[in-house]
Amino acid sequence: MTEMTIIPSAGVATPAPFTGRHLIAGAWCDSADGSVSKRHSPAHGTHVSTSAKGGAADAHAAIAAARAAFDQGDWAFSSGASRAAILLKVAELIERDLDRIALLETLESGKPISQAKAEIGGAADLWRYAASLARMIHGDSHNSLGPDMLGVVLKEPIGVVSMITPWNFPFLIVSQKLPFALAAGCTAVVKPSELTPSTTCILGELLIEAGLPAGVLNIVLGFGDPVGEVLSTDSRVDMISFTGSTGVGKRISAAASGTLKKVSLELGGKNPQVIFPDADLDQAADAITFGVYFNAGECCNSGSRIIVHEDVAEALTEKVVALSRRVPFGDPLDPATQVGAIISPEHMAKIDGYVQAAVADGARVAIGGAAFGVDGVGPQFYQPTVVTDLRPDMPIACDEVFGPVLAVLTFKTLDEALRLCNGATYGLSAGVWSKDMSTCLSFARRVHAGTVWTNTWMDGYPEMPFGGFKESGQGRELGRYGLEEFLEVKTVQMRIGDTRQPWVASSQGL
Ligand code: NAD
Repeated sequence: MTEMTIIPSAGVATPAPFTGRHLIAGAWCDSADGSVSKRHSPAHGTHVSTSAKGGAADAHAAIAAARAAFDQGDWAFSSGASRAAILLKVAELIERDLDRIALLETLESGKPISQAKAEIGGAADLWRYAASLARMIHGDSHNSLGPDMLGVVLKEPIGVVSMITPWNFPFLIVSQKLPFALAAGCTAVVKPSELTPSTTCILGELLIEAGLPAGVLNIVLGFGDPVGEVLSTDSRVDMISFTGSTGVGKRISAAASGTLKKVSLELGGKNPQVIFPDADLDQAADAITFGVYFNAGECCNSGSRIIVHEDVAEALTEKVVALSRRVPFGDPLDPATQVGAIISPEHMAKIDGYVQAAVADGARVAIGGAAFGVDGVGPQFYQPTVVTDLRPDMPIACDEVFGPVLAVLTFKTLDEALRLCNGATYGLSAGVWSKDMSTCLSFARRVHAGTVWTNTWMDGYPEMPFGGFKESGQGRELGRYGLEEFLEVKTVQMRIGDTRQPWVASSQGL
Protein backbone atom coordinates (compact mmCIF):
# COMPACT_ATOMS: atom_id res chain seq x y z
CA MET A 1 0.00 0.00 0.00
CA THR A 2 2.77 2.44 0.92
CA GLU A 3 4.32 2.03 -2.52
CA MET A 4 1.35 3.88 -4.04
CA THR A 5 0.78 7.60 -4.46
CA ILE A 6 -1.67 8.68 -1.74
CA ILE A 7 -2.89 12.27 -1.44
CA PRO A 8 -3.67 13.16 2.19
CA SER A 9 -6.73 15.13 3.23
CA ALA A 10 -6.61 18.66 1.84
CA GLY A 11 -8.56 20.16 4.73
CA VAL A 12 -10.32 22.58 2.38
CA ALA A 13 -13.12 24.65 3.96
CA THR A 14 -16.45 23.35 2.65
CA PRO A 15 -19.74 25.23 2.29
CA ALA A 16 -22.78 24.88 4.56
CA PRO A 17 -24.95 21.88 3.61
CA PHE A 18 -27.05 22.44 0.48
CA THR A 19 -30.82 22.28 0.86
CA GLY A 20 -32.48 20.57 -2.11
CA ARG A 21 -36.21 20.83 -2.81
CA HIS A 22 -38.52 19.72 -5.61
CA LEU A 23 -39.15 22.10 -8.51
CA ILE A 24 -42.79 21.80 -9.51
CA ALA A 25 -44.62 24.22 -11.81
CA GLY A 26 -41.94 26.87 -11.27
CA ALA A 27 -41.92 26.71 -7.44
CA TRP A 28 -39.43 25.08 -5.08
CA CYS A 29 -41.31 22.93 -2.61
CA ASP A 30 -40.96 20.35 0.16
CA SER A 31 -42.29 16.81 -0.12
CA ALA A 32 -46.03 16.49 0.45
CA ASP A 33 -45.28 14.38 3.55
CA GLY A 34 -42.32 16.53 4.66
CA SER A 35 -39.72 13.70 4.30
CA VAL A 36 -36.05 14.53 3.77
CA SER A 37 -32.85 12.57 3.28
CA LYS A 38 -29.30 13.58 4.18
CA ARG A 39 -26.13 13.02 2.17
CA HIS A 40 -22.66 12.82 3.70
CA SER A 41 -19.48 13.27 1.68
CA PRO A 42 -18.10 9.82 0.82
CA ALA A 43 -14.55 11.16 1.15
CA HIS A 44 -14.82 13.23 4.34
CA GLY A 45 -17.94 11.98 6.11
CA THR A 46 -19.21 15.55 6.49
CA HIS A 47 -22.85 16.53 5.99
CA VAL A 48 -23.14 17.85 2.40
CA SER A 49 -26.84 18.17 1.69
CA THR A 50 -30.36 17.69 2.95
CA SER A 51 -32.86 16.95 0.21
CA ALA A 52 -36.59 16.58 0.01
CA LYS A 53 -37.39 12.88 -0.24
CA GLY A 54 -40.21 12.63 -2.72
CA GLY A 55 -43.18 10.30 -2.61
CA ALA A 56 -45.71 9.30 -5.25
CA ALA A 57 -47.74 12.48 -4.62
CA ASP A 58 -44.75 14.69 -5.48
CA ALA A 59 -44.06 12.70 -8.65
CA HIS A 60 -47.71 12.99 -9.70
CA ALA A 61 -47.68 16.76 -9.11
CA ALA A 62 -44.52 17.18 -11.20
CA ILE A 63 -45.93 15.10 -14.06
CA ALA A 64 -49.16 17.14 -13.98
CA ALA A 65 -47.12 20.37 -14.22
CA ALA A 66 -45.04 19.08 -17.15
CA ARG A 67 -48.16 17.81 -18.93
CA ALA A 68 -49.98 21.12 -18.48
CA ALA A 69 -46.96 23.10 -19.71
CA PHE A 70 -46.67 20.91 -22.79
CA ASP A 71 -50.37 20.87 -23.66
CA GLN A 72 -50.73 24.61 -23.17
CA GLY A 73 -48.41 24.85 -26.18
CA ASP A 74 -46.39 28.02 -25.64
CA TRP A 75 -43.14 26.07 -25.26
CA ALA A 76 -43.80 23.32 -27.79
CA PHE A 77 -44.76 25.87 -30.48
CA SER A 78 -42.13 28.48 -29.57
CA SER A 79 -39.50 29.25 -32.20
CA GLY A 80 -36.26 27.32 -32.22
CA ALA A 81 -34.49 30.66 -31.97
CA SER A 82 -36.21 31.55 -28.69
CA ARG A 83 -35.49 28.14 -27.19
CA ALA A 84 -31.87 28.39 -28.35
CA ALA A 85 -31.53 31.76 -26.63
CA ILE A 86 -32.47 30.21 -23.28
CA LEU A 87 -30.12 27.24 -23.74
CA LEU A 88 -27.24 29.57 -24.63
CA LYS A 89 -27.93 31.61 -21.51
CA VAL A 90 -27.86 28.44 -19.41
CA ALA A 91 -24.42 27.56 -20.84
CA GLU A 92 -23.18 31.00 -19.81
CA LEU A 93 -24.63 30.66 -16.29
CA ILE A 94 -23.11 27.19 -15.83
CA GLU A 95 -19.70 28.65 -16.67
CA ARG A 96 -20.29 31.55 -14.27
CA ASP A 97 -21.08 29.11 -11.42
CA LEU A 98 -18.67 26.36 -12.46
CA ASP A 99 -16.58 26.38 -9.27
CA ARG A 100 -19.60 26.26 -6.96
CA ILE A 101 -21.24 23.42 -8.90
CA ALA A 102 -17.98 21.45 -9.19
CA LEU A 103 -17.33 21.71 -5.45
CA LEU A 104 -20.79 20.39 -4.60
CA GLU A 105 -20.41 17.61 -7.18
CA THR A 106 -17.10 16.58 -5.60
CA LEU A 107 -18.48 16.67 -2.07
CA GLU A 108 -21.53 14.56 -2.93
CA SER A 109 -19.86 12.06 -5.27
CA GLY A 110 -16.26 11.84 -4.02
CA LYS A 111 -14.82 12.51 -7.48
CA PRO A 112 -11.63 14.60 -7.84
CA ILE A 113 -12.26 18.34 -8.07
CA SER A 114 -10.27 18.61 -11.31
CA GLN A 115 -12.56 16.01 -12.92
CA ALA A 116 -15.68 17.69 -11.51
CA LYS A 117 -14.60 20.99 -13.08
CA ALA A 118 -14.00 19.28 -16.42
CA GLU A 119 -17.42 17.64 -16.15
CA ILE A 120 -19.24 20.91 -15.51
CA GLY A 121 -17.32 22.67 -18.30
CA GLY A 122 -18.19 19.83 -20.67
CA ALA A 123 -21.84 20.10 -19.66
CA ALA A 124 -21.88 23.82 -20.53
CA ASP A 125 -20.66 22.88 -23.99
CA LEU A 126 -23.57 20.43 -24.36
CA TRP A 127 -26.08 23.20 -23.62
CA ARG A 128 -24.39 25.37 -26.24
CA TYR A 129 -24.38 22.56 -28.80
CA ALA A 130 -28.05 21.70 -28.19
CA ALA A 131 -28.91 25.38 -28.71
CA SER A 132 -27.57 25.10 -32.24
CA LEU A 133 -29.80 22.07 -32.88
CA ALA A 134 -32.94 23.91 -31.72
CA ARG A 135 -32.76 25.96 -34.94
CA MET A 136 -32.28 22.98 -37.22
CA ILE A 137 -35.47 21.01 -36.64
CA HIS A 138 -37.04 20.17 -39.95
CA GLY A 139 -38.77 17.35 -41.75
CA ASP A 140 -39.30 16.72 -45.50
CA SER A 141 -41.65 17.72 -48.25
CA HIS A 142 -42.90 15.39 -51.00
CA ASN A 143 -44.07 16.93 -54.28
CA SER A 144 -43.98 13.71 -56.30
CA LEU A 145 -47.21 12.23 -54.91
CA GLY A 146 -49.28 13.35 -57.90
CA PRO A 147 -50.37 16.63 -59.53
CA ASP A 148 -52.88 17.53 -56.81
CA MET A 149 -51.08 16.34 -53.72
CA LEU A 150 -48.41 17.72 -51.47
CA GLY A 151 -46.95 15.81 -48.55
CA VAL A 152 -45.15 17.31 -45.60
CA VAL A 153 -43.32 15.40 -42.88
CA LEU A 154 -43.09 17.36 -39.65
CA LYS A 155 -40.80 16.74 -36.71
CA GLU A 156 -42.62 17.55 -33.49
CA PRO A 157 -41.64 17.35 -29.82
CA ILE A 158 -42.56 13.96 -28.37
CA GLY A 159 -44.21 15.57 -25.32
CA VAL A 160 -43.51 15.02 -21.61
CA VAL A 161 -40.20 13.26 -20.93
CA SER A 162 -39.21 11.62 -17.62
CA MET A 163 -35.46 11.66 -17.08
CA ILE A 164 -33.86 9.41 -14.46
CA THR A 165 -30.13 9.83 -13.89
CA PRO A 166 -27.34 8.04 -11.96
CA TRP A 167 -24.80 9.31 -9.43
CA ASN A 168 -21.54 8.97 -11.32
CA PHE A 169 -21.75 12.08 -13.57
CA PRO A 170 -24.91 13.77 -12.28
CA PHE A 171 -24.48 17.14 -13.98
CA LEU A 172 -23.09 15.82 -17.26
CA ILE A 173 -25.70 13.13 -17.74
CA VAL A 174 -28.69 15.39 -17.15
CA SER A 175 -27.01 17.72 -19.66
CA GLN A 176 -26.88 14.91 -22.23
CA LYS A 177 -30.67 14.74 -22.05
CA LEU A 178 -32.34 17.93 -20.91
CA PRO A 179 -30.98 20.54 -23.38
CA PHE A 180 -31.74 18.21 -26.30
CA ALA A 181 -35.30 17.62 -25.08
CA LEU A 182 -35.82 21.35 -24.48
CA ALA A 183 -34.35 22.14 -27.92
CA ALA A 184 -36.98 19.79 -29.37
CA GLY A 185 -39.79 21.61 -27.49
CA CYS A 186 -40.49 18.91 -24.88
CA THR A 187 -41.23 19.44 -21.20
CA ALA A 188 -39.53 17.32 -18.55
CA VAL A 189 -39.59 15.78 -15.10
CA VAL A 190 -36.08 14.98 -13.87
CA LYS A 191 -35.24 12.60 -11.02
CA PRO A 192 -31.56 12.67 -10.11
CA SER A 193 -29.94 9.89 -8.08
CA GLU A 194 -30.75 10.00 -4.37
CA LEU A 195 -26.96 9.95 -3.76
CA THR A 196 -26.12 13.08 -5.78
CA PRO A 197 -29.24 15.24 -6.16
CA SER A 198 -27.91 18.74 -5.44
CA THR A 199 -26.24 19.87 -8.65
CA THR A 200 -29.42 19.03 -10.59
CA CYS A 201 -31.22 21.51 -8.29
CA ILE A 202 -28.60 24.14 -9.09
CA LEU A 203 -29.19 23.47 -12.79
CA GLY A 204 -32.90 24.08 -12.16
CA GLU A 205 -32.07 27.42 -10.52
CA LEU A 206 -29.99 28.40 -13.55
CA LEU A 207 -32.76 27.48 -15.97
CA ILE A 208 -35.22 29.66 -14.09
CA GLU A 209 -32.69 32.50 -14.11
CA ALA A 210 -32.26 32.01 -17.87
CA GLY A 211 -36.00 32.52 -18.38
CA LEU A 212 -37.38 28.99 -18.82
CA PRO A 213 -41.17 29.18 -18.40
CA ALA A 214 -42.69 27.57 -15.29
CA GLY A 215 -43.59 23.90 -15.63
CA VAL A 216 -41.27 23.20 -18.58
CA LEU A 217 -38.70 21.69 -16.22
CA ASN A 218 -39.76 19.93 -13.04
CA ILE A 219 -37.44 18.14 -10.63
CA VAL A 220 -38.48 15.48 -8.14
CA LEU A 221 -35.89 14.31 -5.63
CA GLY A 222 -36.04 10.85 -4.13
CA PHE A 223 -35.52 7.15 -4.68
CA GLY A 224 -36.31 4.78 -7.52
CA ASP A 225 -39.15 3.44 -5.43
CA PRO A 226 -41.54 5.26 -5.50
CA VAL A 227 -40.50 8.32 -7.58
CA GLY A 228 -38.74 6.53 -10.46
CA GLU A 229 -41.49 3.96 -10.69
CA VAL A 230 -44.22 6.61 -11.00
CA LEU A 231 -42.17 8.39 -13.68
CA SER A 232 -41.88 5.10 -15.61
CA THR A 233 -45.52 4.07 -15.49
CA ASP A 234 -47.69 7.22 -15.55
CA SER A 235 -49.73 7.50 -18.74
CA ARG A 236 -49.24 11.29 -18.89
CA VAL A 237 -45.54 10.72 -19.65
CA ASP A 238 -44.72 10.18 -23.34
CA MET A 239 -41.11 9.09 -23.06
CA ILE A 240 -38.64 7.97 -20.45
CA SER A 241 -34.96 8.69 -20.86
CA PHE A 242 -32.96 6.62 -18.38
CA THR A 243 -29.26 6.34 -17.59
CA GLY A 244 -28.19 3.80 -15.01
CA SER A 245 -27.62 0.11 -14.45
CA THR A 246 -28.77 -2.58 -16.85
CA GLY A 247 -30.86 -4.21 -14.11
CA VAL A 248 -32.87 -1.05 -13.40
CA GLY A 249 -33.06 -0.32 -17.15
CA LYS A 250 -34.79 -3.66 -17.72
CA ARG A 251 -37.23 -2.92 -14.90
CA ILE A 252 -38.03 0.49 -16.34
CA SER A 253 -38.50 -0.95 -19.81
CA ALA A 254 -40.98 -3.51 -18.44
CA ALA A 255 -42.79 -0.85 -16.37
CA ALA A 256 -43.03 1.51 -19.36
CA SER A 257 -44.51 -1.18 -21.60
CA GLY A 258 -47.85 -0.84 -19.81
CA THR A 259 -48.40 2.51 -21.54
CA LEU A 260 -46.11 1.84 -24.56
CA LYS A 261 -44.19 5.03 -23.89
CA LYS A 262 -40.95 5.46 -25.76
CA VAL A 263 -37.92 4.29 -23.77
CA SER A 264 -34.32 5.38 -24.23
CA LEU A 265 -31.76 3.52 -22.13
CA GLU A 266 -28.09 4.29 -21.48
CA LEU A 267 -26.85 1.37 -19.40
CA GLY A 268 -23.75 -0.42 -18.17
CA GLY A 269 -20.69 -1.77 -19.94
CA LYS A 270 -17.67 -4.03 -19.59
CA ASN A 271 -15.64 -2.35 -22.23
CA PRO A 272 -12.72 -4.20 -23.85
CA GLN A 273 -9.56 -2.68 -25.25
CA VAL A 274 -7.63 -4.97 -27.59
CA ILE A 275 -3.88 -4.39 -27.84
CA PHE A 276 -1.99 -5.80 -30.85
CA PRO A 277 1.78 -6.45 -30.76
CA ASP A 278 2.59 -3.53 -33.08
CA ALA A 279 0.82 -0.98 -30.84
CA ASP A 280 2.69 1.88 -29.20
CA LEU A 281 2.70 0.23 -25.75
CA ASP A 282 3.65 3.38 -23.84
CA GLN A 283 0.78 5.31 -25.38
CA ALA A 284 -1.60 2.40 -24.81
CA ALA A 285 -0.51 1.92 -21.16
CA ASP A 286 -1.14 5.58 -20.35
CA ALA A 287 -4.59 5.54 -21.98
CA ILE A 288 -5.43 2.26 -20.24
CA THR A 289 -4.68 3.71 -16.80
CA PHE A 290 -6.79 6.76 -17.67
CA GLY A 291 -9.59 4.56 -19.00
CA VAL A 292 -9.83 2.39 -15.90
CA TYR A 293 -9.06 4.87 -13.10
CA PHE A 294 -10.88 7.97 -14.36
CA ASN A 295 -13.76 8.76 -11.95
CA ALA A 296 -12.41 5.86 -9.79
CA GLY A 297 -13.64 3.48 -12.49
CA GLU A 298 -17.23 4.49 -11.65
CA CYS A 299 -17.81 5.14 -15.28
CA CYS A 300 -20.01 3.36 -17.85
CA ASN A 301 -17.18 3.76 -20.35
CA SER A 302 -14.52 2.41 -18.04
CA GLY A 303 -11.98 0.47 -20.12
CA SER A 304 -11.94 -2.13 -17.39
CA ARG A 305 -11.07 -5.16 -19.52
CA ILE A 306 -7.93 -5.29 -21.62
CA ILE A 307 -7.38 -8.10 -24.07
CA VAL A 308 -3.69 -8.01 -24.93
CA HIS A 309 -1.78 -10.10 -27.47
CA GLU A 310 0.20 -12.74 -25.61
CA ASP A 311 3.50 -11.60 -27.20
CA VAL A 312 3.27 -8.23 -25.45
CA ALA A 313 1.10 -9.10 -22.44
CA GLU A 314 3.93 -9.10 -19.93
CA ALA A 315 5.54 -5.90 -21.22
CA LEU A 316 2.25 -4.02 -21.34
CA THR A 317 1.12 -5.23 -17.90
CA GLU A 318 4.42 -4.08 -16.38
CA LYS A 319 3.95 -0.62 -17.88
CA VAL A 320 0.35 -0.40 -16.63
CA VAL A 321 1.39 -1.53 -13.14
CA ALA A 322 4.21 1.05 -13.06
CA LEU A 323 1.79 3.83 -14.01
CA SER A 324 -0.82 2.55 -11.55
CA ARG A 325 1.71 3.00 -8.77
CA ARG A 326 2.02 6.68 -9.73
CA VAL A 327 -1.72 7.49 -9.99
CA PRO A 328 -2.44 10.01 -7.23
CA PHE A 329 -5.47 8.77 -5.27
CA GLY A 330 -6.89 10.25 -2.10
CA ASP A 331 -8.64 13.46 -1.06
CA PRO A 332 -10.81 14.56 -3.99
CA LEU A 333 -10.56 18.22 -2.95
CA ASP A 334 -6.83 18.22 -3.69
CA PRO A 335 -6.29 19.47 -7.27
CA ALA A 336 -3.54 16.85 -7.77
CA THR A 337 -5.81 13.88 -7.00
CA GLN A 338 -6.80 11.70 -9.96
CA VAL A 339 -8.71 8.92 -8.16
CA GLY A 340 -11.11 9.98 -5.43
CA ALA A 341 -13.48 8.24 -3.03
CA ILE A 342 -15.87 5.38 -3.76
CA ILE A 343 -19.51 6.48 -3.71
CA SER A 344 -20.70 4.36 -0.74
CA PRO A 345 -19.63 1.59 1.66
CA GLU A 346 -22.03 -0.80 -0.11
CA HIS A 347 -20.40 -0.11 -3.45
CA MET A 348 -16.93 -0.48 -1.88
CA ALA A 349 -17.91 -3.95 -0.64
CA LYS A 350 -19.10 -4.89 -4.13
CA ILE A 351 -15.80 -3.80 -5.75
CA ASP A 352 -13.67 -5.60 -3.19
CA GLY A 353 -15.90 -8.67 -3.44
CA TYR A 354 -15.07 -9.03 -7.14
CA VAL A 355 -11.34 -8.77 -6.46
CA GLN A 356 -11.33 -11.20 -3.53
CA ALA A 357 -13.49 -13.73 -5.42
CA ALA A 358 -11.05 -13.59 -8.36
CA VAL A 359 -8.10 -14.16 -6.02
CA ALA A 360 -9.87 -17.11 -4.41
CA ASP A 361 -10.35 -18.49 -7.93
CA GLY A 362 -6.63 -18.33 -8.78
CA ALA A 363 -6.20 -14.78 -10.12
CA ARG A 364 -3.14 -12.67 -9.30
CA VAL A 365 -3.30 -9.08 -8.05
CA ALA A 366 -0.38 -7.34 -9.78
CA ILE A 367 -0.97 -4.13 -7.82
CA GLY A 368 -3.58 -2.74 -5.42
CA GLY A 369 -6.48 -4.92 -4.36
CA ALA A 370 -7.47 -3.30 -1.07
CA ALA A 371 -9.73 -0.65 0.38
CA PHE A 372 -8.06 2.16 2.26
CA GLY A 373 -9.27 4.76 4.77
CA VAL A 374 -7.94 8.13 5.95
CA ASP A 375 -8.96 10.67 8.59
CA GLY A 376 -10.90 8.04 10.56
CA VAL A 377 -13.47 7.84 7.76
CA GLY A 378 -14.09 4.88 5.53
CA PRO A 379 -12.37 2.92 4.13
CA GLN A 380 -13.40 5.33 1.41
CA PHE A 381 -10.72 4.75 -1.26
CA TYR A 382 -9.91 1.69 -3.34
CA GLN A 383 -6.37 1.27 -4.55
CA PRO A 384 -5.73 1.39 -8.30
CA THR A 385 -5.79 -2.34 -9.02
CA VAL A 386 -4.60 -4.64 -11.81
CA VAL A 387 -5.70 -8.29 -11.82
CA THR A 388 -4.11 -10.90 -14.12
CA ASP A 389 -4.19 -14.68 -14.65
CA LEU A 390 -7.91 -14.63 -15.33
CA ARG A 391 -10.27 -16.92 -17.17
CA PRO A 392 -12.71 -15.02 -19.44
CA ASP A 393 -15.70 -16.47 -17.59
CA MET A 394 -14.69 -15.15 -14.14
CA PRO A 395 -17.15 -12.48 -12.86
CA ILE A 396 -14.36 -9.87 -12.63
CA ALA A 397 -13.72 -10.35 -16.36
CA CYS A 398 -17.38 -10.20 -17.47
CA ASP A 399 -19.31 -8.03 -14.99
CA GLU A 400 -19.29 -4.28 -14.58
CA VAL A 401 -17.18 -3.87 -11.40
CA PHE A 402 -17.55 -0.06 -11.47
CA GLY A 403 -14.34 0.56 -9.55
CA PRO A 404 -10.64 1.22 -10.22
CA VAL A 405 -10.00 -2.40 -11.17
CA LEU A 406 -8.44 -3.58 -14.43
CA ALA A 407 -8.97 -7.16 -15.64
CA VAL A 408 -6.21 -8.43 -17.97
CA LEU A 409 -6.94 -11.17 -20.52
CA THR A 410 -4.77 -12.35 -23.43
CA PHE A 411 -5.35 -13.46 -27.05
CA LYS A 412 -3.51 -14.96 -30.03
CA THR A 413 -5.60 -14.03 -33.09
CA LEU A 414 -7.99 -11.26 -34.12
CA ASP A 415 -10.84 -13.79 -34.26
CA GLU A 416 -10.14 -14.87 -30.69
CA ALA A 417 -10.03 -11.25 -29.51
CA LEU A 418 -13.34 -10.55 -31.24
CA ARG A 419 -14.89 -13.64 -29.67
CA LEU A 420 -13.86 -12.40 -26.22
CA CYS A 421 -15.23 -8.91 -26.92
CA ASN A 422 -18.46 -10.00 -28.55
CA GLY A 423 -19.16 -12.79 -26.05
CA ALA A 424 -20.12 -10.13 -23.48
CA THR A 425 -23.74 -9.31 -22.76
CA TYR A 426 -22.76 -5.62 -22.92
CA GLY A 427 -21.91 -3.59 -26.04
CA LEU A 428 -21.25 -0.03 -24.93
CA SER A 429 -17.74 0.79 -26.14
CA ALA A 430 -14.57 -0.95 -27.28
CA GLY A 431 -11.02 0.03 -28.18
CA VAL A 432 -8.24 -1.20 -30.40
CA TRP A 433 -4.52 -0.41 -30.32
CA SER A 434 -2.37 -1.05 -33.41
CA LYS A 435 -0.27 1.00 -35.83
CA ASP A 436 -1.91 -0.88 -38.70
CA MET A 437 -5.11 0.97 -39.64
CA SER A 438 -6.53 -2.02 -41.48
CA THR A 439 -6.26 -4.09 -38.27
CA CYS A 440 -8.03 -1.28 -36.42
CA LEU A 441 -10.75 -0.95 -39.02
CA SER A 442 -11.43 -4.70 -39.31
CA PHE A 443 -11.82 -4.73 -35.54
CA ALA A 444 -14.01 -1.63 -35.57
CA ARG A 445 -16.32 -3.12 -38.22
CA ARG A 446 -16.73 -6.44 -36.43
CA VAL A 447 -16.92 -5.54 -32.76
CA HIS A 448 -20.39 -5.20 -31.21
CA ALA A 449 -20.20 -1.82 -29.53
CA GLY A 450 -21.88 1.57 -29.85
CA THR A 451 -18.53 3.41 -29.81
CA VAL A 452 -15.12 2.18 -31.00
CA TRP A 453 -11.97 4.07 -30.11
CA THR A 454 -8.84 3.35 -32.13
CA ASN A 455 -5.50 4.30 -30.59
CA THR A 456 -7.32 6.47 -28.07
CA TRP A 457 -9.85 5.99 -25.27
CA MET A 458 -12.92 7.84 -24.02
CA ASP A 459 -12.74 11.03 -26.06
CA GLY A 460 -16.24 12.50 -26.25
CA TYR A 461 -17.72 15.25 -28.38
CA PRO A 462 -21.22 16.72 -28.38
CA GLU A 463 -21.34 16.05 -32.13
CA MET A 464 -20.73 12.30 -31.80
CA PRO A 465 -23.68 10.04 -30.90
CA PHE A 466 -23.32 7.84 -27.85
CA GLY A 467 -25.17 4.70 -26.78
CA GLY A 468 -24.95 0.95 -26.50
CA PHE A 469 -25.55 -2.29 -28.37
CA LYS A 470 -27.13 -5.29 -26.63
CA GLU A 471 -27.66 -4.92 -22.85
CA SER A 472 -25.85 -1.57 -22.82
CA GLY A 473 -28.98 0.17 -23.95
CA GLN A 474 -31.18 1.43 -26.72
CA GLY A 475 -31.40 4.81 -28.42
CA ARG A 476 -28.66 7.38 -28.74
CA GLU A 477 -27.67 10.59 -26.98
CA LEU A 478 -25.64 13.49 -28.39
CA GLY A 479 -25.18 14.57 -31.98
CA ARG A 480 -28.25 15.10 -34.15
CA TYR A 481 -29.40 11.62 -33.06
CA GLY A 482 -29.67 12.95 -29.51
CA LEU A 483 -32.20 15.52 -30.72
CA GLU A 484 -34.10 13.04 -32.92
CA GLU A 485 -34.82 10.86 -29.86
CA PHE A 486 -37.10 13.60 -28.55
CA LEU A 487 -38.93 14.22 -31.85
CA GLU A 488 -42.02 12.54 -33.26
CA VAL A 489 -42.69 12.25 -36.98
CA LYS A 490 -46.03 13.56 -38.25
CA THR A 491 -47.19 13.13 -41.84
CA VAL A 492 -49.44 15.83 -43.30
CA GLN A 493 -51.00 15.11 -46.73
CA MET A 494 -52.73 17.90 -48.60
CA ARG A 495 -55.00 17.94 -51.62
CA ILE A 496 -54.38 21.18 -53.44
CA GLY A 497 -56.22 23.06 -56.16
CA ASP A 498 -59.87 22.29 -57.09
CA THR A 499 -59.65 18.52 -57.47
CA ARG A 500 -61.78 16.23 -55.27
CA GLN A 501 -60.93 12.89 -53.75
CA PRO A 502 -62.31 10.34 -56.27
CA TRP A 503 -64.86 7.91 -54.83
CA VAL A 504 -68.67 7.60 -54.95
CA ALA A 505 -69.58 11.11 -56.00
CA SER A 506 -67.04 11.46 -58.77
CA SER A 507 -67.51 7.90 -60.12
CA GLN A 508 -71.27 8.48 -60.44
CA GLY A 509 -70.79 11.86 -62.07
CA LEU A 510 -72.37 13.75 -59.15
P1 NAD B 1 -28.99 2.67 -10.83
O1 NAD B 1 -29.59 1.93 -11.97
O2 NAD B 1 -28.92 2.00 -9.51
O3 NAD B 1 -29.82 4.04 -10.57
C1 NAD B 1 -29.99 4.98 -11.60
C2 NAD B 1 -31.22 5.82 -11.29
O4 NAD B 1 -32.37 4.96 -11.35
C3 NAD B 1 -31.24 6.46 -9.93
O5 NAD B 1 -31.77 7.77 -10.05
C4 NAD B 1 -32.17 5.57 -9.12
O6 NAD B 1 -32.81 6.23 -8.07
C5 NAD B 1 -33.17 5.17 -10.19
N1 NAD B 1 -33.92 3.95 -9.93
C6 NAD B 1 -33.56 2.90 -9.15
N2 NAD B 1 -34.54 1.96 -9.18
C7 NAD B 1 -35.52 2.42 -9.99
C8 NAD B 1 -36.77 1.90 -10.42
N3 NAD B 1 -37.22 0.71 -10.04
N4 NAD B 1 -37.52 2.65 -11.27
C9 NAD B 1 -37.08 3.83 -11.71
N5 NAD B 1 -35.90 4.39 -11.32
C10 NAD B 1 -35.12 3.68 -10.48
O7 NAD B 1 -27.56 3.16 -11.34
P2 NAD B 1 -26.47 3.94 -10.52
O8 NAD B 1 -25.86 3.01 -9.53
O9 NAD B 1 -26.99 5.24 -10.07
O10 NAD B 1 -25.40 4.25 -11.69
C11 NAD B 1 -24.44 3.35 -12.11
C12 NAD B 1 -24.89 2.63 -13.38
O11 NAD B 1 -25.20 3.58 -14.39
C13 NAD B 1 -23.80 1.76 -13.98
O12 NAD B 1 -24.33 0.55 -14.38
C14 NAD B 1 -23.32 2.57 -15.17
O13 NAD B 1 -22.71 1.83 -16.20
C15 NAD B 1 -24.58 3.21 -15.62
N6 NAD B 1 -24.29 4.40 -16.43
C16 NAD B 1 -24.47 4.33 -17.79
C17 NAD B 1 -24.14 5.43 -18.58
C18 NAD B 1 -24.33 5.41 -20.07
O14 NAD B 1 -24.37 6.49 -20.66
N7 NAD B 1 -24.46 4.24 -20.71
C19 NAD B 1 -23.65 6.59 -17.98
C20 NAD B 1 -23.48 6.61 -16.59
C21 NAD B 1 -23.81 5.52 -15.82
